[in-house]
Amino acid sequence: MSDSPIDRAAPRKAPKPEVTKIAGRELKPATLMMGHGYDPTLSEGSLKPPIFLTSTFAFESAAAGKHHFEGITGKRPGGADGLVYSRFNGPNQEILEDRLGIWDGAEDALSFSSGMTAICVLMLAYAAQGDVIVHSGPLYAASEGFVAKVLSKFGVTYIDFPAGATREQLDAVMDRAKTQADEQGGKVCMVYLESPGNPTNALVDVEAVRDARNAAFGTDGPPIAIDNTFLGPLWQRPLDQGADIVVYSLTKYVGGHSDLVAGSIAGAKKWMNPVRALRNTMGGICDPNTAWMLLRSLETVELRMQRAGENAAKVCEFLASHPKVEGLGYLGMIKDARQQDIYDRHCQGAGSTFSLLLKGGEAECFAFLDALKIAKLAVSLGGTETLASHPASMTHLSVAEGRRAELGIGDNLVRISIGIEDPDDLIADFEQALEQV
Ligand SMILES: *Cc1c(COP(=O)(O)O)cnc(C)c1O
Repeated sequence: MSDSPIDRAAPRKAPKPEVTKIAGRELKPATLMMGHGYDPTLSEGSLKPPIFLTSTFAFESAAAGKHHFEGITGKRPGGADGLVYSRFNGPNQEILEDRLGIWDGAEDALSFSSGMTAICVLMLAYAAQGDVIVHSGPLYAASEGFVAKVLSKFGVTYIDFPAGATREQLDAVMDRAKTQADEQGGKVCMVYLESPGNPTNALVDVEAVRDARNAAFGTDGPPIAIDNTFLGPLWQRPLDQGADIVVYSLTKYVGGHSDLVAGSIAGAKKWMNPVRALRNTMGGICDPNTAWMLLRSLETVELRMQRAGENAAKVCEFLASHPKVEGLGYLGMIKDARQQDIYDRHCQGAGSTFSLLLKGGEAECFAFLDALKIAKLAVSLGGTETLASHPASMTHLSVAEGRRAELGIGDNLVRISIGIEDPDDLIADFEQALEQV
């Protein structure tokens, strides 16, 4: 039977038990990225997973079809235990989700067609009319816009707090949010964080947020979600500090080659289930080809991020002492004691994306950007190549001037994402570009 063509074409079953430990030693994510969640014997022995281009999956029997739909529709607890239809899931996406969960120590993960799809579906899954979202600021501009301009159309309001807020400030924010929700006849449905913030690298104290949430709402309170795109998965694991849901734009470090757009969320199954149900309804899952590309990317994510992080440290050391440089927003050179304390408790590395403050304003920044020969002038970050951009006139142009000033996004700020090139070549490039300023 096992050799019959019917069996070979059968949809992939739930992941088999596999080796995640040897002699009591938990295998590291870097090891598991080469094989976890994929069994070659189910795919003609193909060492790498094929790309499964199919819109639907054949049932073994009518009863099996019924069983699958009972899982999908929630009539049977535990969700789907097989593949049904490609809006719900597919083999490539399932392998990807298994591997993404490993990095953050999450029970479950969901992949999406972009980081913003992940964020929008997540928030929609939790927010109802009259609810309040508490969020840190600044957020990625599109995330902030989704809360303020889209969810507001459905009677959902928000309260934001500055990234560095202390426990006392957070307690006050939670109280205000509770009052606001009561007045609107809703609840506080989510605490949404982004740390470090973009482009200033201000860190949120996730442990303090967890304590404030628990104090205000008990442990049954709203989930804490955090956008970990800038430091994850290597340099920050927010589930360890008490976050419930970790959010990624996989477009950045995880994809890592500036050649795809995707997103994900991860956390305990109980937090993923409502989001999975909405994704099943709306769509928005990552496509099989992109999922395959991400599996390839995950095999090198640790190597790439380590190299980029080392490069950034060298480049920042050069920039910090340059006479035309006013300052750096780099997590390896924090000046504020409270921010340093958060960094020490939450982060395993300083990342490779930072802001460079030049002496001068837009004209000086533009002269610098236009003179770069290796670093490319583009928005986005986390790729193999070094990118530079001018947030005030690009990514944050839509942010009101007053708010920009409040967030520390001046006209003299250049955002740089360091790649994996030779570090001395990068330093030579920055040195010659600074001469043009
Ligand atoms: C890029 C980015 C997003 C949005 O992700 P897309 O994949 O572009 O949709 C969200 N959050 C942060 C921090 C980002 O950098």
